[in-house]
Amino acid sequence: MDINFQEILNKEKLRQNNSIVLIASENYASKSVREAQGSIFTNKYAEGYPGERYYGGCEYVDQIEELAIDRAKELFGAEHVNVQPHSGAQANMAVYSATFDSQDIIMSLPLDHGGHLTHGSKVNFSGKFYNFKHYNVDRESEQIDYDALHSQAKIINPKAILSGFTAYPREIDFEKINFICKDTDSLMIVDMAHISGLIAAKLHSDCVKYADIVTSTTHKTLRGPRGGLILSKNKFSKKIDKSVFPGMQGGPMMHTIAAKAVAFQEASSQNFIKYQKLVLSNAKLLAEKLAREDLRIVTGDTDTHMILVDVSNYGITGKFAEDKLNNAGIIVNRNTIPYDTKPPRVCSGIRIGTAAISSRGMDSEAINIISECIVDILKQRKDQEIVKSRIVKLAQKHPINLD
Ligand SMILES: *Cc1c(COP(=O)(O)O)cnc(C)c1O
Repeated sequence: MDINFQEILNKEKLRQNNSIVLIASENYASKSVREAQGSIFTNKYAEGYPGERYYGGCEYVDQIEELAIDRAKELFGAEHVNVQPHSGAQANMAVYSATFDSQDIIMSLPLDHGGHLTHGSKVNFSGKFYNFKHYNVDRESEQIDYDALHSQAKIINPKAILSGFTAYPREIDFEKINFICKDTDSLMIVDMAHISGLIAAKLHSDCVKYADIVTSTTHKTLRGPRGGLILSKNKFSKKIDKSVFPGMQGGPMMHTIAAKAVAFQEASSQNFIKYQKLVLSNAKLLAEKLAREDLRIVTGDTDTHMILVDVSNYGITGKFAEDKLNNAGIIVNRNTIPYDTKPPRVCSGIRIGTAAISSRGMDSEAINIISECIVDILKQRKDQEIVKSRIVKLAQKHPINLD
């Protein structure tokens, strides 16, 4: 036995078990998902696609990849699916490379308004190699102003409009975005990384039926293994597949694809819908509770698993809030709020998500405790160790299956 490995793993188990994860992009994959990802499919090279591999011995990995593809098609109602991207970022990279040349204009929401790094940030490949022009959220409502987006798109005349975000707590109106894309003759590309679980459960407006191409991660609200996914209309299938392999990647991670197949099955169950309903009701309740304590909820509310909280009312920064909460066992990340006046390392906000705690079966009773603890820490009105022991107790009452 590798004692060093075991020791670190045990520490991480303890950490996961005893803390409350409110990071909006994290979740707990089921034991079945983790078993599939830890399976012997990791031993197999399978460059290519089912039926057209560049290696022998692929008869069963072909079956597992086809199973994953069929289940994803069924779950999301997609025409074409590629399950090979190693991550969300790589799914986006493959889509851009399949669809754009460096001159084409792509409209997206910038990082500091809730977009992702891969949506044209200057420090990312997307901003370096592609020509992104940004739309913004409205200064007042802090939400997408669809009319403004429409007018801007008419002027800019982009090749594509990218939607789907990383720090945007409200429902996205994909029907409206589709209308704007049609009217301006732009491709509709959606990155549903954060909301794919809600969409699978039909608790968020659907983008797959409207968009030309949809990318996703599989490990956020969808609760699968860490990985990426591309869904598209048939007419983009060849370009996308070629772009993923041989364009961007070598051998697919067949163990992860096996785990994706398991996760897609789980996500099509009644239990999963029940779970996503809990995710939503927990987020609503937590937003309400925090608002009652004078914390400003960005956009005033949430329709998703995510809440953006402006902590500046308390005279503190997002960085300070993140550190203090983390020390008390409440794990969140700092986040810029729209039109933030503080630099990104400091930020005025924190991002909170309920996907992980809901997987532990936490409901309104736990939300009451969590919200009290958050305020106790941020107002510095209770000793950190007292709050921490309350958090550990709550966490232990809702164990995660980590075996
Ligand atoms: C998380 C996220 C990604 C990137 O996923 P990784 O697997 O971390 O590369 C891409 N786009 C959006 C909108 C995301 O939220």
